[in-house]
Amino acid sequence: MMYIIMLGAPGAGKGTQADILSREIGLPRIASGDLFRQASEEGTRSGLAAKSYMDKGLLVPDDMTTKMISERLGRPDCASGCILDGFPRTLHQAEVLDRALEEQGKRIDEAIYIEVPDEELVKRLSGRWLCRTCQTPYHATSSPPETPGRCNKCGGELYQRSDDRQETVRERLSVFFAQTVPILDHYKKQSKLIRVNGNLGIQGVAGAIISALKASLPS
Ligand code: AMP
Repeated sequence: MMYIIMLGAPGAGKGTQADILSREIGLPRIASGDLFRQASEEGTRSGLAAKSYMDKGLLVPDDMTTKMISERLGRPDCASGCILDGFPRTLHQAEVLDRALEEQGKRIDEAIYIEVPDEELVKRLSGRWLCRTCQTPYHATSSPPETPGRCNKCGGELYQRSDDRQETVRERLSVFFAQTVPILDHYKKQSKLIRVNGNLGIQGVAGAIISALKASLPS
């Protein structure tokens, strides 16, 4: 049983690394942003409410977020653990998560913080394109698709997230520093924080995460 949290600013590569780790250790990746985008595409009331915050680069309120995540964590595929990508993002969410797991005799094992310099984050996010079908990320200059507008893996259509516009990107970064960075201390106090340099290339970062996990978890 293993519960792992991926932390990092928007654009740090949390999603990419959570996907790699998910395949490596065979646990599902639960991405709060994907769950909100899915709900907003389905047009549910909570999905549309979430979209109004996402489009401004703001966090969705804690009560909506924790409710959605607890429902997701209650599904059978998360019974032996999961990799949380994008949740928690506030100290309150982290505390709610700790309590919810504790009630089931579970706990967070490690929180992995992927560190990337700010100017690199803005560059990454403003050129980012994603596959609408499988969510594989591309970058206009550093990793363009083989066929413009199409995913290399599944042929799906590529799109740019509405919150990846420059002004929204800056808002998301300042929200990250104000509301999410305090979480680092929360996990540091519990001796669960692993810091990883996010500027080593995708495979380099993945390797650093796996070695750090091997070093800190009992085998
Ligand atoms: P992401 O795909 O992780 O970058 O998330 C996209 C957007 O979804 C964020 O900018 C927030 O508006 C919302 N969101 C995702 N996760 C959370 C969370 N844990 N708490 C509040 N809002 C969230």
